Amino acid sequence: MRIDPHNTAVTPLDFYDYPITHSLIGAILWSCALGLTYTVLKKDKRAALILGLVVFSHWILDLITHRPDLSLGLGGSTYVGLGLWNSVPGTLVAEFGLFAAGIILYTRTTTAKDRIGSIGFWSLIGILALIYVGNVAGPPPPSASIIAIAGNASWLFILWAYWVDKHRRVKSSADQP
Ligand SMILES: [Zn+2]
Repeated sequence: MRIDPHNTAVTPLDFYDYPITHSLIGAILWSCALGLTYTVLKKDKRAALILGLVVFSHWILDLITHRPDLSLGLGGSTYVGLGLWNSVPGTLVAEFGLFAAGIILYTRTTTAKDRIGSIGFWSLIGILALIYVGNVAGPPPPSASIIAIAGNASWLFILWAYWVDKHRRVKSSADQP
């Protein structure tokens, strides 16, 4: 991809060729890869199916938000995308709405075991919200390689979320008032 300040109202990035990560067939392959890996490692088919569907949901969400830049196959010239990113208000409602729904769902079904599970969790939520606001309201990034570095650094958030989740537990009926 390359920097293109007015590619859509929301994102200053032109995703012009990324079939390995963002084609329909690529998304299906990545979803199967995680599902099968999880099945082999953990022998839990139900959880593996859910994880595979979670990976695939990325493509569905991108289909809603991107302009038509998602290819169906690894080659070819058919591109799809419903273009929610052409509307800033629509994007903010949908993306903050999903973020809030995720937080509500997670905090209703889990509870902190200790301070890492509470303070660590809410710090992660705060940082993610700040980065999101910076992405939407800030200037375009200076170069594509900065985005590559930031993209790879986002693995740290996955480790952070994993660490926090180990310090929370699923609520039981005894937790209800
Ligand atoms: Zn994507």
